[in-house]
Amino acid sequence: MAAQSSEIDAIAGVTITTTAVSKAAAKCIAQAKGEIPIEVITEPSQNGDGDWLGTEPEIADSDITAEYETEILVIGCGTGGMFTIAATAEEGAKVIGIDRFSTGVGIRDDLAAIDSRYQKEWGTKIDKFDYITMATQYAAGHINQDLVRLFCDESGAAIDWYGDRLAERGVELWHEPGDSVDEARYEHFATGHSPRWTGSDDGQGGELDGNKILYDYALGLGAQFDYNTKMIKLTKENDRVTGCIAKNGDDKYVRYTASKGVVVCTGGYSLNYEMIEALQPWNLRIIGRNGSEPGAFGDGIKACLWAGAKMDETHSMMMFDRCALRPDQETGAETAKAGDNGFFWMDSQP
Ligand SMILES: Cc1cc2nc3c(=O)[nH]c(=O)nc-3n(C[C@H](O)[C@H](O)[C@H](O)COP(=O)(O)OP(=O)(O)OC[C@H]3O[C@@H](n4cnc5c(N)ncnc54)[C@H](O)[C@@H]3O)c2cc1C
Repeated sequence: MAAQSSEIDAIAGVTITTTAVSKAAAKCIAQAKGEIPIEVITEPSQNGDGDWLGTEPEIADSDITAEYETEILVIGCGTGGMFTIAATAEEGAKVIGIDRFSTGVGIRDDLAAIDSRYQKEWGTKIDKFDYITMATQYAAGHINQDLVRLFCDESGAAIDWYGDRLAERGVELWHEPGDSVDEARYEHFATGHSPRWTGSDDGQGGELDGNKILYDYALGLGAQFDYNTKMIKLTKENDRVTGCIAKNGDDKYVRYTASKGVVVCTGGYSLNYEMIEALQPWNLRIIGRNGSEPGAFGDGIKACLWAGAKMDETHSMMMFDRCALRPDQETGAETAKAGDNGFFWMDSQP
């Protein structure tokens, strides 16, 4: 710190650690100076003309190279998708999950619930009415209370179910309530649950995670996963969505038809700056760093709108914005690299 440098004295016997600390410090210094921009991912389709929705692509039948039939089609194998695929396979349905990446984006570790068996064991009791009131206040009333109530009523069972899947692979799920901190000035609800991954391996030389556990579980129940398969548009029969047209890893169009239902779980649109600019411009002015789920380009939202869906008027986006911003940096799409924080602005000049 005194030298304002990453050069530190090597300590004999811990060369690897010394080098690692030195490298990490150098990177931090460069980031603090704004020399390492955090990559902003954009889609080629974001052409900047403001027409974020565009028109539904026309794809001729003659361009379809393969057809797949199933009972349930799940588009997007992230958090929502993996739970849906596993649950429908468990019910005995023939289910196919597709994802635009080589695997889904995975399941976050800290999962909230009310009245799980873990909470009951620890004596954690959350008043559902208080919880709905808090959520309504947080959202300044722009909330579907029925959905929050659904979370209050069903999340405990969902977490118990997930806990069973983890336990089958030798992983414990802990109720981690977090701290109730007076300084935080908001009401704390002890909803957290986190898996203890330490030492858990997937039997194939890799580390276990929630995605692998639900993938293996669903696969064992007969589910099919088609990765590197990007949904382009939904298809309809008599005004009912019955499937989709997707592009597979060979850049070829394929068609999926589902006899019982199509579930769109493609996440949000926080990596689609044209959509943010059009739908939440005020947020673009205040964000400093865009920590989003990969794949959050709004593909599913656009496809649903093309198919005739109506969009929630007071929606939000799932983006983490934790960082520091140089005094001379502005926020917005182009500068969503460094960050902002009302109490910690740093001048890189000493
Ligand atoms: C940094 C960060 C940390 C978070 N931490 C937590 C946490 O600790 N606990 C918690 O509960 N929540 C957390 N969240 C929120 C959580 O990740 C999301 O709420 C959740 O992932 C949303 O689930 P989803 O199924 O709607 O979308 P996602 O999980 O984003 O899944 C969408 C899937 O759809 C795929 N997809 C997208 N477009 C297409 C297409 N055209 N065709 C095919 N597939 C497509 C994507 O590749 C992805 O796999 C966090 C979010 C972020 C950004």
